[in-house]
Amino acid sequence: MKKFLIHWCLIISYFSIYPNLLFAQSEDTVDRITEDSAVIIMYHRFGERSFPNTNVTLDQIDKHLAELSKDIYNIVPLRTITEALKNGRELPSRTIAITIDDGYLSVYQHAWPRFKAANIPFTLFISTASVNDQNERSMTWDQIRELASDPLVDIGHHGHTHAHMTQMSSADALADIELADKIFNRELGYVPDIFAYPYGEYSNELTAVLAPKNYHAAYGQYSSAASSTRDIKTLPRFAFNKNYADLDRFKLIINSKALPIKDILPRGPNLENNPPAVGFTVSEDINGLGAIGCFPSHMSEAAKVIRVGDNRIEIRFDQPFPNGRHRLNCTMPGPDNRWYWFGMPFFNLGD
Ligand SMILES: [Zn+2]
Repeated sequence: MKKFLIHWCLIISYFSIYPNLLFAQSEDTVDRITEDSAVIIMYHRFGERSFPNTNVTLDQIDKHLAELSKDIYNIVPLRTITEALKNGRELPSRTIAITIDDGYLSVYQHAWPRFKAANIPFTLFISTASVNDQNERSMTWDQIRELASDPLVDIGHHGHTHAHMTQMSSADALADIELADKIFNRELGYVPDIFAYPYGEYSNELTAVLAPKNYHAAYGQYSSAASSTRDIKTLPRFAFNKNYADLDRFKLIINSKALPIKDILPRGPNLENNPPAVGFTVSEDINGLGAIGCFPSHMSEAAKVIRVGDNRIEIRFDQPFPNGRHRLNCTMPGPDNRWYWFGMPFFNLGD
C-alpha cells in the first residue's frame, strides 16, 4: 500500500506542476473517436463500514455514479467490451464497464437502486457457496433472481467456495467450478459464461484447466486499462475500496487508456524467474514514452526502465517479489489530459 501511495504521489505531483491540466476536459469537447481501450471497474460492498478493504461508502458510490453519468463517458455492459476486444473492434473513447463481485446483500440494498436510478449496467460475479450458506451479509437466490431479471444486470461465475484456485489441484479447481455450475443451473436456469477469478488469482495452469469451459472472457483483479492485445482470459479490472475511492483517483482511472503494446513478457503471472524480466513493445508512435514510470508493489521506488530502440520497453527489478499477490503499474501522461495505464499482476503464492 505504501508503495502505491508513492506511485500515487508521483501522479499527483505531475498535476501540481500542470494544475490546469487536472480534468480540464469539459463536456463541450466530447470526442467521439474510437480506440482499442476500455476500463473495467470492480466493487464488492457498499456502505458496509466494518469491511474497509472491500467497501466503498454510499457517499463515494454516489459521487462515482454522478461522474459516470456525464456525457463524456460511454458506459456499457461488460459483454460489449469483451466482444469488441475479442473481435479487435475499437470502442468509443472512455468506454467503461462496472463489475461487482461476491454477491453481498449491500449490492441489493444500496447499489442496485442507485445503478437503476442512474441507468448504469453492471455485472455481478457470484460465488455460489456464500449464497447457499444463507450468510446474513449475502444475497439470497430470490434476490439474485430479481437482479438477474433486470436488463441492466448480467450474472457472472465466481466459483463455488471462493477458493485460492491456483493452489488447488486441477481436479479440485474443476470440481469447485462444476459444483457452482450445478447450483447456477438449479437456481437461475443457466450457467454464466463469464468468469472472475476469486481474489483475482490465476496462473497459466489454471487458465488451461478452465479452457474447456469456453468462457466468453475471464477477469482478474489488477489495475490496467484493457485492450485487444491482452489475454481475453485474464482481463484487468480496477478495484475500488474506501481508501482508494476518492473522486480524483476515480476520475483519473476512468479516463485512463491502454498503451498500444504487444509482445508482453513474461506471458503470465507465475514467477518462474524472480524477479522476472518484464518487457513489451509499444506498437505505435507514442509521444512522451520517455516519461513512462513503472512501479512494482513490492518496492519503494520505481523499477528500472530500459528503452531498447524506439519502441521496446524493458523493466527490471532490484528485489525479488516476496510471498503474496503483487502488481506492476506503468503509467505515463497521454493526450487529452488522460493517462496511459498498463498493469500486470505477479503471484508468489507457493504451490
Ligand atoms: Zn470475490
